[in-house]
Amino acid sequence: MKAIIVGAGMGGLSAAIALKQAGFETAVYEQVTENKPVGAAISVWSNGVKCMNYLGLHEQMVKLGGVMDTMAYVDGLTGQEMCQFSLAPLIDQVGQRPFPVARAELQLMLMQEYGIDDIHFGMRMIDITDDGTQVTATFADGSTATGDLLIGADGAKSMTRDYVLGEPTQRRYAGYVNWNGLVPVNTDFGPADQWTTYVGEGKRVSVMPVSDGRFYFFFDVPLPAGLEYDRSTAKEVLTEHFGHWAPGVQSLIETLDPMTTNRVEIFDVEPFHTWSKGRVTLVGDAGHNTTPDIGQGGCSAMEDAISLSIALRVNTLGVEDALKRYEKKRTERAGDLVLRARKRCDVTHAKDPAATQAWYDELRAEDGSGIIRGIVSNIEGNPLD
Ligand code: FAD
Repeated sequence: MKAIIVGAGMGGLSAAIALKQAGFETAVYEQVTENKPVGAAISVWSNGVKCMNYLGLHEQMVKLGGVMDTMAYVDGLTGQEMCQFSLAPLIDQVGQRPFPVARAELQLMLMQEYGIDDIHFGMRMIDITDDGTQVTATFADGSTATGDLLIGADGAKSMTRDYVLGEPTQRRYAGYVNWNGLVPVNTDFGPADQWTTYVGEGKRVSVMPVSDGRFYFFFDVPLPAGLEYDRSTAKEVLTEHFGHWAPGVQSLIETLDPMTTNRVEIFDVEPFHTWSKGRVTLVGDAGHNTTPDIGQGGCSAMEDAISLSIALRVNTLGVEDALKRYEKKRTERAGDLVLRARKRCDVTHAKDPAATQAWYDELRAEDGSGIIRGIVSNIEGNPLD
């Protein structure tokens, strides 16, 4: 059985590793010519880490991951702590520590695990044909690859999704822009082992630890889509939005390197429940493009990979049947996480200012249990619970 995997992001690579480990023949095709992921880092929550553990990558995750022991919210304008609490109860409940990791390092680790020389880089898929017994991908250079199934792990703007659904998909602008990057740990902003988030005015500034004494940082600002931006002006633009915020935020802006700071407009896709057509299926953002507000997009992609490999291993009525069973297992949970993230996104970014003010008030009264309950409910329901 041969699987063609299109896209070497965390979803495609996790699927490729899982299938290779299960004894399938695999071939990975990626349009870019080198490992250059968009975005500085991600938090791999406990469900994503368990997927990596399942693939035998626990040690690697420990090496790449930051140690995040506590969590705090701070009033962005005054710098006053709203709440601060230990994440130990969360780890105890779900049975695994989360690991924030630098995105490029996670990608590289997955590529190395699969076999970097076995990835076909510079191959942009432009067409899919399925004759009922084999599926063929055609690439921009005119070459083709044929297998028993095709896994479209081609991300948020997936062409495989359009093939499966039979029409192009509209992405929805979530209403805010996110700046992100890595800086050396800066304790003016928050302790080195803490996920610290400053909130106010429907905006957010946050840091979490990744390995080697670095913070992953991000700034969110509600803004229209399509504004012009020159990367070199990151500090000036962020000062425009946050210049009146607490000293920790000013220190973070001073510390960041504009040329390695990413700016991303945030979109999602309305959840849909058809992920497979014939011998073709979707993994990751191709199937469930979400806003990053609960940090679950990449974790869901990892869950897809594990679930797909199990479906292909345990079902014996053929590829099409196994893909439908995978779809049945995954679409509801993944779609639910997209909608939860959208809801959180709207509260965080003041879509309804009264709801956002109520959330700020709740944060001031929080002992951590409510927030931990929310995160646990995102993690639970994963294929490895
Ligand atoms: P991608 O990583 O996008 O990979 C898709 C790959 O397919 C790309 O390499 C692309 O080049 C390739 N490709 C596309 N089209 C073709 C084609 N036609 N032919 C060949 N190759 C193709 N998730 C979390 O779990 N935790 C977080 O903390 C988190 N934070 C985030 C913060 C931000 C600002 C954003 C934007 C997202 C965040 N996410 C987070 C979500 C996470 O980044 C995505 O869910 C994850 O990257 C999806 O992985 P993927 O493999 O499906 O897609």
